[in-house]
Amino acid sequence: MPEEWSASLAARGERSFTAKQVFHWIHRRGVLDPAAMKNLPARLREHLAAEGLGEVLTPERVHRSEDGTRKLLLRLHDGATIETVLLPSVSGPGSQAQLDADAAAGDDTDDEDDDAGPGAAPRVRVTQCISTQVGCAMGCGFCASGVAGLKRHLGAEEIAGQVLLGRAMLEEGEALRGVVYMGMGEPLHNYEATARSLRLLTHPEGINLSTRRVTVSTSGLVPEIARLGEDFGGQIALAISLHAADDATRSALMPINRKYPLDELLAALRAYPLPRRRRITIEYTLVAGQNDDPVEARRLAKLLRGIPVKINLIPMNPIEASSLGPPGLERVTAFQEVLTQAGYSCFVRRRRGDDVSAACGQLVLLGAKPKVRRAVG
Ligand code: SAH
Ligand code: SF4
Repeated sequence: MPEEWSASLAARGERSFTAKQVFHWIHRRGVLDPAAMKNLPARLREHLAAEGLGEVLTPERVHRSEDGTRKLLLRLHDGATIETVLLPSVSGPGSQAQLDADAAAGDDTDDEDDDAGPGAAPRVRVTQCISTQVGCAMGCGFCASGVAGLKRHLGAEEIAGQVLLGRAMLEEGEALRGVVYMGMGEPLHNYEATARSLRLLTHPEGINLSTRRVTVSTSGLVPEIARLGEDFGGQIALAISLHAADDATRSALMPINRKYPLDELLAALRAYPLPRRRRITIEYTLVAGQNDDPVEARRLAKLLRGIPVKINLIPMNPIEASSLGPPGLERVTAFQEVLTQAGYSCFVRRRRGDDVSAACGQLVLLGAKPKVRRAVG
């Protein structure tokens, strides 16, 4: 934050406006190399370099998919690697691709603040998916990060830094539209760093993302959902990985459910201070033979009654470490049908970036096909 730069630079006898300059270089312009911060005094540039600024994240490789999806492999200062994904979509308000991106970003609001009006040149809007941990401690059996286990938390700079690097990679005509915390790791298990990164990404002197275009996805850490709601007044968009509508099924897929069972999780969703006309995204990964029965869909419809939600169905992306897999198309459609019949907005996510090898299955599953857009609850 600029205030913090102010304090630390004042302690070194720097003039007050240099703090804003440093923050602008990093967060507005995405420049992490102190040597390139031309308007700073040489001694300060040397100090910043000595402090290790510029070494937070090193881009190692970019995989580009035929559909334009780009996966960046980033190396951290201790040698660990993480991934972040850029998901472009050609826009024009209301276009199919744009609806896809909206669904990925958890955004179902009208585009009242978009400048591309009728007749405007189409822009490519990009949603970026970021990681919050190296691996994950939650142990979901269908997830590559869960199987890997937690290696370490990321710091706020490492989380927000992914967006600085992602933004620097945007191509002609592309604009960063939103950020989703759906990469490796459980954001709310790393609450402090996640919250700080949210402040950095939405800071008006920095990247200045609108809070409603930032979505935090969680497996359901109940106390931290309440904390997020309180700390950000409900402004951060929320996605919940539900994956089942009864405790036995959910606990089998997601060990966290034993700690925070469905009734507590649903109570946390009801209590989330959601702004008017906004909805919580429910993620439901369909795993063949586990949670894909139409009976489970009917339970889900009942469970969510009265909560403003939209539902994203994600046929499981197979991972090497597990024999679990996705159901067939008919089963997916039948599941969706139950929910649409019950009046829910229900999307089946289409896989994107299939041809970029994905160590982290979920990262490539952000496109979505809206079926029905009917308000519920
Ligand atoms: N830990 C958070 C955010 C990262 S996971 C969470 O669980 O919500 C982002 C999403 O990808 C979650 O909904 C997760 O269940 C889903 N996911 C993980 N592995 C997957 C796979 N192999 N196939 C489909 N979805 C997967
Ligand atoms: Fe962690 Fe989310 Fe994967 Fe579960 S699905 S193991 S919470 S990253």
